[in-house]
Amino acid sequence: MVQLPIYLDNNATTQCDERVLQEMLPYFTKLYGNAASRTHSPGWLVEEAVENARTKIAELINASAKEIVFTSGATESVNLAIKGVYEMYVSKGNHIITCAVEHKAVLDTCKHLEKIGADITYLPVNSDGTINIDELENHIRPTTILIAIMYANNETGVIHPIQQIAAIARKHAVLFFSDAAQAAGKIPVDVMKDDVSLLSLSAHKIYGPKGVGVLYVRRKDPRARITAQMDGGGHENNMRSGTINVPGIVGFGKACELCMHEMNDEAERLVALRNKLQQELLKLENVGINGNIQHRLPHVTNLSFKGINSGRMITALNKSIAVSSGSACTSALVEPSYVLKAMGLDDATANASLRFGLGRFTTPMEIDYAIMVISEYLKTVKSNLPAFI
Ligand SMILES: *Cc1c(COP(=O)(O)O)cnc(C)c1O
Repeated sequence: MVQLPIYLDNNATTQCDERVLQEMLPYFTKLYGNAASRTHSPGWLVEEAVENARTKIAELINASAKEIVFTSGATESVNLAIKGVYEMYVSKGNHIITCAVEHKAVLDTCKHLEKIGADITYLPVNSDGTINIDELENHIRPTTILIAIMYANNETGVIHPIQQIAAIARKHAVLFFSDAAQAAGKIPVDVMKDDVSLLSLSAHKIYGPKGVGVLYVRRKDPRARITAQMDGGGHENNMRSGTINVPGIVGFGKACELCMHEMNDEAERLVALRNKLQQELLKLENVGINGNIQHRLPHVTNLSFKGINSGRMITALNKSIAVSSGSACTSALVEPSYVLKAMGLDDATANASLRFGLGRFTTPMEIDYAIMVISEYLKTVKSNLPAFI
């Protein structure tokens, strides 16, 4: 039997893999040193574990270990990247290009910078959630210092044309930051091939612990420079002060190692399960896919159920399936998803949409069960129309 509720909200967070947890445990008790303590063996032992983890994380994205800065999560990494670049380069220019469907961490950081003098362009997206690459280039000006476009969207799974964006950034000598919290560990991300200057990652999106993240900061060709946003002991090469989260980092390293080895098989398995879920639900009346289906993460589908209120549906089904209508950070509000609205969906359709995020622990039986409960719900609601919606 399946265990209820079936968890289909892996874009919000993932279960920590048991293998990750086991790797972390000794670093809470026996190996409790401070990685910054250079004068004794408890410190050295821990420093070595941290450097091992740094290497594994770097390997996942083909970076060098020296380019990895530990943070408390992708939100902090995003803040450090965008604010750090802005402060460092503001004498050169104050213009940043981002896009309308970015995570709130990016959008709110940009809003903050607008208040202190930044000029931000929010690129619109097409109806399938993709950006228009020519439009991006047309917005570049002499004062542009940064392009901030996410690798893959957290609500639709749509993957942006990272290498094309990078080529434009390079042509105009502008830095390129990509929030890869949803992409790294799920699809190949290669900072050299993709030619990004800065990249953010989060452990809890890839079966690691919550509260630890990374900012990749390119060291050469060209070097990306940022100012620290946290002042203190000068940890992390003066880019992020504060005693680092050793167990979290060790777990993050293990999580990356597992993704390296298992990503391809896992993606293949999840595409099949995701497609099955999607196909079966599309057979029902008035169901449509939101977002480009060619360039999409393997484990995600965002569906609209026209005529249904997805908030009510989530609540009605929450003993059976755990899903959400959008990003975890905003789903407490009943407002329609700004990502779907940016794609041109009207309020009613945006409010009829659900995001399904499958994961490492999703089983075929769970998908069958989810298809069944959703189909039954839709049947019941529609037979009670119009009283029910
Ligand atoms: C989850 C997520 C974040 C925030 O990551 P935290 O580690 O939870 O701070 C940022 N961007 C995207 C695209 C995400 O999916």
